[in-house]
Amino acid sequence: MNKEAIRVEIKGIVQGVGFRPFIYRLAKRLRLAGVVFNSSSGVVIEIEGKESSIDTFLKKIVLDAPPLAKIDNIDFSFQPLNNRTSFEIKESLPEEGGFIPIAPDISICKECLNELFLPTDKRFQYPFINCTNCGPRFTIIKDVPYDREQTTMDKFRMCQDCTSEYIDPDNRRYHAQPNACHICGPEVKLVKNDGSEVKCTDPIKETVFLLKKGNIVAIKGLGGFHLACDATNDEVVTRLRARKKREKAKPFAIMLFDVSQVKEYCQVNKIEEELLSSPQRPIVLLKKLKDCQIAKNVASNNNYLGVILPYTPLHYLLFHSSLATRHSPLPLVMTSGNLSDEPLTKDNDEAIKRLGGIADYFLVHNRKIHISCDDSVTSVVAKKESIIRRSRGYAPLPIILKFQLKQILSTGAELKNTFCLTRENYAFISQHIGDLKNYETLKYYQESIEHFKRLFRIEPEIIAHDLHPDYLSTKFAQDYSSLIPHIAIQHHHAHIASCMAENDMDEPVIGVAFDGIGYGTDGNMWGGEFMMADYQSFNRMAHLKYIPMPGGDMATKEPYRMAISYLYAIFGRDFMDLELDFNKRFKKENVEILLKMIDKKINSPLTSSCGRLFDAVSSMLGICDKIDYEAQASMELEMIAADKVKKGYDYEIIPSNDILVIDPAPLISGIIRDILNNIASKSISAKFHNTLVEIIDEVCVILKNRVGINKVVLSGGVFQNRYLIEKVIIRLTNDGFMCYHHSQVPTNDAGISLGQAVIAGNQVIG
Ligand code: ZN
Ligand code: ZN
Ligand code: FE
Repeated sequence: MNKEAIRVEIKGIVQGVGFRPFIYRLAKRLRLAGVVFNSSSGVVIEIEGKESSIDTFLKKIVLDAPPLAKIDNIDFSFQPLNNRTSFEIKESLPEEGGFIPIAPDISICKECLNELFLPTDKRFQYPFINCTNCGPRFTIIKDVPYDREQTTMDKFRMCQDCTSEYIDPDNRRYHAQPNACHICGPEVKLVKNDGSEVKCTDPIKETVFLLKKGNIVAIKGLGGFHLACDATNDEVVTRLRARKKREKAKPFAIMLFDVSQVKEYCQVNKIEEELLSSPQRPIVLLKKLKDCQIAKNVASNNNYLGVILPYTPLHYLLFHSSLATRHSPLPLVMTSGNLSDEPLTKDNDEAIKRLGGIADYFLVHNRKIHISCDDSVTSVVAKKESIIRRSRGYAPLPIILKFQLKQILSTGAELKNTFCLTRENYAFISQHIGDLKNYETLKYYQESIEHFKRLFRIEPEIIAHDLHPDYLSTKFAQDYSSLIPHIAIQHHHAHIASCMAENDMDEPVIGVAFDGIGYGTDGNMWGGEFMMADYQSFNRMAHLKYIPMPGGDMATKEPYRMAISYLYAIFGRDFMDLELDFNKRFKKENVEILLKMIDKKINSPLTSSCGRLFDAVSSMLGICDKIDYEAQASMELEMIAADKVKKGYDYEIIPSNDILVIDPAPLISGIIRDILNNIASKSISAKFHNTLVEIIDEVCVILKNRVGINKVVLSGGVFQNRYLIEKVIIRLTNDGFMCYHHSQVPTNDAGISLGQAVIAGNQVIG
């Protein structure tokens, strides 16, 4: 019998996920002796025994790793035999400066779900049941190492039963930091919006009763509060909208009991089904069935519904309770518990103060949330996951880069903000932060940056920010330590670099950034850009023709302003005589004011934004003149596009110096002609989209011939449009391009923090 000894070093998410007990059980089963302990960068195993058993051991580490573990790297080396006879888990002390990725919050696992509904189990119907394979992580961790004392569970003392599970390496709850039960753990409570407790024997049952009666209930979850109500009741949904303010049309997400209930309302393909049921439990955007019985005002003018399955034991208990009196559980609106643009509410008192005017009741509990974290939103585009909001379940998992970076803080965009911190080959993108113009959100941003720095032991050596001088994220960067280099990164270069990094690329590419707006190096507002780019620099090769944005930021909120700008640029003042519905909707004197602003160049910055072109067309067609939420006009224009229409409109590509300028004037004239000929809006929308596909393809072909690059990277908010991106991918691929787009990092502005960090890191090296 050949014996050997080896030392194995494992990197990745291997702490706080049941990895050491897994190794312990595996070693014992294979009769191997040795020791396992946490190191500053992962887990170390010293093991000895039969050669063949060690081979099996190494294979099984990868194959049978616990569900939450994520192995990035395994290294092993041979060691002299130590004649050990047993296997043990060794406690380790934290090392100075050491760091380790932290697991995100994960939905309740199968075993815990079984126990939750097993009448003989000691945690039968316990709303906070969890184990090493599931439950809260990121949102309850105050500091590292991940020990109970460093989480918000510190104030609960484990009972004897829980303690014996906690210290038993053979138990599923060995070192499960949030471990608790009915006797020793957190509990739920129902309160009215005046703060008084509702006396009842079963707060969960009572909550369901109240929801069925048409009340709005704020429910405390993993990462913060949700506002919940009956998703089949138009009246209560309208009331929720009115109370939440300013969000007349913004779609709400709904929570359904299981995949088969989802199929009663939406089309679900295999990949979507997997995403819905994944441990990350994101909101998945699904196409509504024609006769979908969810209240229309949950997501009006939208072919899609954001659907999420229950992910905490509390959610499951709510649905089970609702099943007691119905043949199928009550579909619930589950929208973020915040006022518009504010961060998610996480504390009980704060919730009653801030949401008391919205919710009638509050289902709260006494496990504190240390850092709030919104639900993630994802969708399936071109047969792969395409994340729109990367937050709970995903953050703070790092993006693993192909290269090492210094410690960099990149401060992200202003809307849909995330920031990013890097260390070695890890890029830690923050959870969804949101709109920094909101004061509460800006505070949340600053706190989250400090929290990430502490958790991952990062002290930035470089700070990267957007080129836009007025972004609050830029101002934050400017106020940051003057002792380290500050690097400004052009917005669309960051978009493209973000997509390159996600796709592990490191060669020059043709980048297509179709976007809302981002500050350009010439001071104009870019957003319809073609560039040759790598991580160090970019060369702008083509863009949509500049057009004034009368009113600046107001033009983003009021798409009709862009419609007027385009019509004026193409038809002059004559556009006002056209027999268009559009002209009837606006008073002549108001239009005159905008024309004057354009003529006199008053607050009318020039833009090449593709998002603003979408807005203009949306308004011309009478779909959306003013928006309620970001990108509403372009999204509603996408929603009506008729898939069968193959034609497009004309456009012109004008060489100007070395840069190509794409003039959409013939496109706009074509649309106006079609409107005057009473062509259906759904055909016009499709033809508009098809034209953009044509433009992207033709420009890429020209650029390929110029620079000899056939890799095209697509990024920017406009590519959230499925109709467009799916057609672009097919078209470019058919024309011999290698086409790359986003999947795990958002294509919208939430993705630029990653791009900023990798560019800054590469510029400093180079
Ligand atoms: Zn579990
Ligand atoms: Zn207990
Ligand atoms: Fe952008």
